[in-house]
Amino acid sequence: MTATTTETTVINHFIDGVETAGVGDRTTSVFNPATGKATATLRLANRADLEAAVAAARKAADTWGEISLARRTAVLFKFRELVASHVEELAQLVTAEHGKVLSDAKGEIGRGLEVVEYACGIPTLLKGDYSDQVSTGIDVFNFREPLGVVAGITPFNFPVMVPLWMAPMAIATGNAFILKPSERDPSASLLLAKLWKEAGLPDGVFQVLHGDKETVDGLLTHPDVDGISFVGSTPIAQYVHETATRHGKRVQALGGAKNHAIVMPDADLDNAADHLAAAAFGSAGERCMAISVAVAVGDAADLIVKKVEERALAVKVNNGTAPDAEMGPVITPAAKERIVRIVTEAEAAGAAMVVDGRDLVVPGHEDGFWVGPTVIDHVKTEMTAYQEEIFGPVLVVVRVDTLEDGIKLINANPYGNGTAIFTSSGAAARKFQRSVTVGMIGINVPLPVPVAYHSFGGWKASLFGDKHIYGPEGVSFYTRGKVVTSRWPETHHASGASYNFPSN
Ligand code: NAD
Repeated sequence: MTATTTETTVINHFIDGVETAGVGDRTTSVFNPATGKATATLRLANRADLEAAVAAARKAADTWGEISLARRTAVLFKFRELVASHVEELAQLVTAEHGKVLSDAKGEIGRGLEVVEYACGIPTLLKGDYSDQVSTGIDVFNFREPLGVVAGITPFNFPVMVPLWMAPMAIATGNAFILKPSERDPSASLLLAKLWKEAGLPDGVFQVLHGDKETVDGLLTHPDVDGISFVGSTPIAQYVHETATRHGKRVQALGGAKNHAIVMPDADLDNAADHLAAAAFGSAGERCMAISVAVAVGDAADLIVKKVEERALAVKVNNGTAPDAEMGPVITPAAKERIVRIVTEAEAAGAAMVVDGRDLVVPGHEDGFWVGPTVIDHVKTEMTAYQEEIFGPVLVVVRVDTLEDGIKLINANPYGNGTAIFTSSGAAARKFQRSVTVGMIGINVPLPVPVAYHSFGGWKASLFGDKHIYGPEGVSFYTRGKVVTSRWPETHHASGASYNFPSN
């Protein structure tokens, strides 16, 4: 990528409790997508940096896993307070490197905080079961132990929330956690590392290792890494799952999405249009739960397209720091090119351009990576605009005759992250929720991201591995179960040993 380099800041790793340049000599530039300018140089780890982080994590895991739940909880409560008091600072970092508007950046931090708050309840979450007197004089109980060293590899689109989907859960359950953040917007992760330290977390329990494929591959194959949490695009999620599984690790790898929203003719169409526009264009469509396909049923089609058009034209696109901005730029020039190419292909294939954001320029920010809200109607399933994850502010409209046709369309799609239905019919909603092959479903709720005490996960090509992230499944993912069968005979001679299979 080329840009005028004005970078002075160097972004370091955070290894074994200290911010460090490491010994790797490769770097990459970090950009502000609203200005198009490089703002910092990011160090990329080499093998020695990786070995240092894994060794520190191994050592830290051995002691942190033994620390009492009361002391772990005290650190989590303190961390919660520190993140809450640094929301503004974290949000500024996110907006400067990701581009999303400040209020949205604060929103993602809020959703991440929810997971920290959930993790504060870890003593209750780790309680095991006890069965008294399962046989004469014999009791059985179970409990869960940490995996040891786990790594989290995260995407650019939620540089605070996604790391906080993982780290608080991994740390609360007694693991040491190495974060490999996206190289596009890495600064917030370094601030999180400092806040963990200030909260009293021992050195090596939370570390940040910046890098690209080389670092990821090192983590996926390292014999001292026990588990991998990944969130990113589907091809990389699949690769991460296969590689790390082959190397004996527990893996959860969340992938990309193509989220459909069905609009029924009986829906409140103004409400549906408001929500569709917000879910398609919020964060420039760079959300794994963004609605990217509106499935308009029967008579709803013409009306909903008109209403969404009005809203798309009214979206205020600007630098995310501008007070009235509702949508910022996309992440890179390459992302912009991909989005523009897909829209152009849809137009050439006969789809109807309702709102065209390809040529948007924001005055004063001519070098930013802008794509305006875009609405394309009469999209067919064979078009790339339907098949590919666009990951930009583009809503495609597919018209169908019935709810059943809409459900068939969703179920034939390879992705299964989120989906929604807008309707006033309980019967339609119930049929929808019971028959779609998708992990997270919204009924008149466009972005059904579960709260922290329910777990988050898609189906099909949106998740590889069988544990969803955070919530109860997060506790389960970062721990291994043990079942103890115990007998404490009162006298030497009461053992009752038998050569038969025990029966009572
Ligand atoms: P990405 O897959 O390009 O990158 C994700 C992470 O993988 C980054 O840390 C990156 O450094 C690393 N990586 C990239 N290429 C790699 C390679 N060849 N080998 C090993 N590691 C590699 O994803 P992104 O562009 O940062 O994020 C956007 C994607 O993430 C979208 O597809 C979006 O749907 C998805 N996403 C999914 C969820 C979910 O919960 N399912 C949440 C957020 C984002």
